[in-house]
Amino acid sequence: MKYAIFGDIHANLEAFEAVLADAAEMGCTDHVCVGDIVGYAADPNRCLAIIREMGCPVVKGNHDEEAILHTSLEGLNPLARHAMEWTREQLNEDECEFLGNLKLVRQVRDFTIVHATLDTPGGWTYVTNKFDAMASFSYQFTQLCFYGHTHTPRIYSKGDSVEPLEEMSVQLEMGRKYFINVGSTGQPRDGDWRSSYAIYDVENQEVTIRRLEYDIQTAQDKIIDAGLPEMLAHRLSLGK
Ligand code: ZN
Repeated sequence: MKYAIFGDIHANLEAFEAVLADAAEMGCTDHVCVGDIVGYAADPNRCLAIIREMGCPVVKGNHDEEAILHTSLEGLNPLARHAMEWTREQLNEDECEFLGNLKLVRQVRDFTIVHATLDTPGGWTYVTNKFDAMASFSYQFTQLCFYGHTHTPRIYSKGDSVEPLEEMSVQLEMGRKYFINVGSTGQPRDGDWRSSYAIYDVENQEVTIRRLEYDIQTAQDKIIDAGLPEMLAHRLSLGK
């Protein structure tokens, strides 16, 4: 049994399709999504449809939440505001209901999934260092938890202390816990434009982060054609 765990798709269909194709090639049997299906890029409906067709476990991301609210977007920066206004216009009632019903934290088999943090899952704060990771570990009751939100893949390991690993793969050890950011499928921000997702190999007790090239040109053209800010297309190439 192998899980493909992805998130922060952000309506980037080309990136999402590349991840799914790679996952199939790698022999993944199950899919799991850590949230932020929509927001930023031009294919929110298609990305949502794929997730729903697969019927995979999903948790809610901050963009999934924001997209179905009718609150003012005054506080957001102009780039995010424009993208969110556009995304809200694209979603129908049924899609909004699906997103609205997503939970913040879920357990799947023997692991947990959350979008941002386990200590304040609906607060949408960011885990950017080992102290943030320690706060989440206090609320982690499974050996393994997968998350997203920072758009930067990272593996935190907790034994006597909490440390980020340098490697992008880990052999799970008894007695240790792991809090693993799967990176972003549709809008990586670690300076590497390639899509990111994780494979959890249950039998071998191994987690590996994979990076893949995808048809970025098409994703960028669609963003421009949709009338979304050009910067949203440009930043995909920069990986930030
Ligand atoms: Zn995100």
